[in-house]
Amino acid sequence: MNDKKPRVRFAPSPTGHLHVGGARTALYNWLFARGRGGSFILRIEDTDLSRSTDESIQQIISSMRWLGLDWDEGPGAAGDHGPYRQMERMDIYQEAASALLDAGRAYHCYCSPEELEAARTVARQESRPVVYNGRCCGLSSSELQTMESEGRQPVIRLRTPREGFTVVRDTIKGDVQFENSTIGDFILVRSSGVPTYNFAVAVDDARMGITHVIRGDDHLPNTPRQIMLLEAMGEEPPLYGHLPLILGADKTPLSKRHGASAVEEFRKQGYVREALCNYLALLGWSFDGETTLFSIEELVEKFSLERVGNTAAVFDGEKFIWMNGHYIREMSEGELASRIIEYLAGSDLAGLPGSDGKPTVAELVPLVQEKMKTLADFAALTDFFFLPLVFEEKALGKLMKDANALPVLESVVAAITSLDTFSLESIEERLRAEAEAMELKLGKFLQPIRIAVSGKTITPGMFETLAMLGREESIERLKAAIIRLAQA
Ligand code: GLU
Repeated sequence: MNDKKPRVRFAPSPTGHLHVGGARTALYNWLFARGRGGSFILRIEDTDLSRSTDESIQQIISSMRWLGLDWDEGPGAAGDHGPYRQMERMDIYQEAASALLDAGRAYHCYCSPEELEAARTVARQESRPVVYNGRCCGLSSSELQTMESEGRQPVIRLRTPREGFTVVRDTIKGDVQFENSTIGDFILVRSSGVPTYNFAVAVDDARMGITHVIRGDDHLPNTPRQIMLLEAMGEEPPLYGHLPLILGADKTPLSKRHGASAVEEFRKQGYVREALCNYLALLGWSFDGETTLFSIEELVEKFSLERVGNTAAVFDGEKFIWMNGHYIREMSEGELASRIIEYLAGSDLAGLPGSDGKPTVAELVPLVQEKMKTLADFAALTDFFFLPLVFEEKALGKLMKDANALPVLESVVAAITSLDTFSLESIEERLRAEAEAMELKLGKFLQPIRIAVSGKTITPGMFETLAMLGREESIERLKAAIIRLAQA
């Protein structure tokens, strides 16, 4: 193993949101760097001009910040190897291409798209690999002049070996061999002057001193090309680690069809970063095959490429939501309250908790923390404190069908009206006594009260809820339900 401090990169193409696969790649690189005192670099690969957008760059950056994956070099950070956006590195690619041309390792190719297509058709008919036929690799100077005089705009291709193999030494997959004859002289610079993906990556990995390339295994077929390029430029290839695919529950590659797959969507659904980092870490890596819960600090300490498996990982939404509930329960009440407030910003409830004598988020947290699996559950469990009462259909149906509802609600109104002090303890004591007197199990007794004050069948504890609503508001809601029942 090399004793240089590792330098790793996450190199997204900004063509959309940061999805689970990309987020896992970013996380593994980040963990690898942080656990080894190395550097984590964010490089924006925007050479696909038709698909790259600034908006996507902003989305990727904001998802990474939310996850806590900070970068040492890249957009908005320092670094001696910039710029970190490929479209701002054109002069670097031009210089690298010129050097390859001068060394005879690359050449200009003037073939038109029609000529290339015709050559491909012949190759297919003759069952040969569909690779560039090398027509321009040995043009004489007069042929060159003719091409130029015809006004053809050349591309630049790498001169690649026709025979033998290129071996990718992959820390996860082992040695993977590629036949050179199936690769052919590929394009480095398009006729527009824009470098191809493989060329830009190889140049940047070399110039940025990248020691380890950790990325999804969809890139494995590109790796022999990048190795050929690095060799041609006289550069040592980095160590590679290609991560196994992520599948949905139906064992097909995870995609939008499986529901949420972007970090931003998970954030909006109320997942917390601790759960997402922990869950993403387990999509391909395991510590001992058993332990599932890891704090970020533990991941930094324990993560290693040696323990990344080679089989596809399955994204299991149930395990993820379970894990999210775990992290929510683990948080201090204060931390959870601030996460909820941050989460509610921009929602229907924003600004309502704590206003007009209504309970604050911090007051409600102890009532709901154990019941919450996502931050979104906070609103689902407590919105009736803040918004006009709306009955869920199922809850209203239950209330109307409950033969005990009317007598229970009437007894509760009388009971809480007569309490000397309206406190959690006095409410609890009194309602338990009422339930007993009516010979009803507590759960059965509380159900119509719950529906009457919240419109729901699932709420925080009923005694706490009534105490929090206050005597007046509780009585008002109970009476409204009584009228509804009496009219039915
Ligand atoms: N830009 C590539 C992508 O977003 C990743 C390239 C790499 O990691 O080498 O898929």
